[in-house]
Amino acid sequence: MTGGDAAVRGADRIVRGMRGDWEAVIGLEVHVELDTATKMFCSCAVTKGDPPNTHTCPVCLAHPGALPVVNQRAVEYATRIALALDCTVPPRNVFHRKNYFYPDLPKAYQISQYDEPLAVDGCFDYWSGDEKLRCRIDRVHMEEDAAKLIHAGGETGRITGSEYSLVDFNRGGTPLVEIVTEPDIPSPAAARDFLQQLRELVIELGVSECNMEEGQVRWDANISVRPAGSSTLGTRTELKNMNSFRFLQQALESELPRQVGILEAGGTVEQETLHFDPETGTTTPLRSKEEAHDYRYFPEPDLVPLAMDPAWVEEVRASLPELPLARVARFAEQYGLSRADARVIAGPGALARFYEAVVAQGVDPKLAANWTMGEYLAHLNAAGLEPGHGHVTPERLAALVRLVADGVVSTSAAKDVFTKMIEERAEPAAIVAKHGLGRISDSAALGPVVAEVVAANPSQVEQYRGGKRQVLGFFVGQVMKATGGRADPAVVNELLQKALDG
Ligand code: ADP
Ligand code: ZN
Ligand code: MG
Repeated sequence: MTGGDAAVRGADRIVRGMRGDWEAVIGLEVHVELDTATKMFCSCAVTKGDPPNTHTCPVCLAHPGALPVVNQRAVEYATRIALALDCTVPPRNVFHRKNYFYPDLPKAYQISQYDEPLAVDGCFDYWSGDEKLRCRIDRVHMEEDAAKLIHAGGETGRITGSEYSLVDFNRGGTPLVEIVTEPDIPSPAAARDFLQQLRELVIELGVSECNMEEGQVRWDANISVRPAGSSTLGTRTELKNMNSFRFLQQALESELPRQVGILEAGGTVEQETLHFDPETGTTTPLRSKEEAHDYRYFPEPDLVPLAMDPAWVEEVRASLPELPLARVARFAEQYGLSRADARVIAGPGALARFYEAVVAQGVDPKLAANWTMGEYLAHLNAAGLEPGHGHVTPERLAALVRLVADGVVSTSAAKDVFTKMIEERAEPAAIVAKHGLGRISDSAALGPVVAEVVAANPSQVEQYRGGKRQVLGFFVGQVMKATGGRADPAVVNELLQKALDG
């Protein structure tokens, strides 16, 4: 094996093998569970955390003679996703049966879509590092989720004969959208960026919370390599059913050199499904890939093709919110933010709305951006809160920003105020007053501090008087330290110069 040595960093486009350069080609199939009130083909509620098998009916349990009915809200939600991805929505789409047996699938087929999906030929632009990349979208289609299997009994990793699986049919029949990309994604890091930003988009559309822990977003990642600059595709492998961004990137990073190694040793990559083990950081084969004909797709005889009224599709299009990428551009323009800052703030919708509510209070947008990205985001991360939740309201953050802008508090004192806003759930001005955190610009108050600092540092005074004027900065620093960063620097400078020159 040679290429096994080829080290891969996530953002690298080129994998350096022993015999030459290779490039990665990645395509994703992303499943999103929709937050509709009811299931895809029956009126059972879509729920989270309810006792198992409490939301079932003859349709989602596949009793004989039960007939599916399409959930119109699910079609609307799927159409929102399709249009946001710039897809064409043909005038009709068709449900197919995808046949396979598994205990989580009581009908022994999944109702999905095949050669006439809801939507085709879209694209999604996303940021990766400083680059805006475009990924073509092959198709967006509708299907139903399988039930949830809970493996129990036995001891992990040991066959004892006592293990068994339980089935919870509550999830069975939940509306799913599958988004299939073209193989346009150039690196493991780009795949991660794509998925994170696609998730933000779907959340923005209000069709799914995309909760990662609950597996509301899952994906299969297809990956191949080819000689750098080549335009033909290599044979791909597939990493199935992932729902962690970090593991995705790790899995792809380990799969790239594996494929390069095989090819450079003169072998061929098997088209197969792989399993990634986060513990060892390696992939192992699960099974050889099934082909479409294995599923015996045929049109679902219990459902008529869906006619998509063009006027209705246009209504859905008109109802789309501002999408994250457009919002980033607008924030950069409207608020004078750098691209990088605009992406942090305007990417996630909830944070963008929080920021705009701060700015709406009439404070300086750049200063507001610094506080939103700095203290506020750090606070959200530390407390595990979503933007807009917790005790720091936009009004309060704006009030704090105004205190800084008006010179009422210094930046460092304002950070104390921010911490106390959370602890004490109070208005910034009240905190400043209560804790005496306001800026000190009164020379009567600062005079004694300056005198003390000058008296305590005779050698620096000598240096200054000997012509080393930059020592002034040292004295300013000492005064700031003594006042907890609250002293007004202009007044301090003036007083120091008087004391030292006099
Ligand atoms: P299938 O019919 O086997 O599902 P598709 O052509 O529909 O295959 O592709 C499935 C996914 O695999 C798509 O996301 C596509 O972009 C990706 N893909 C296809 N060929 C390659 C390849 N050679 N390398 C990487 N990804 C690929
Ligand atoms: Zn049901
Ligand atoms: Mg496919």
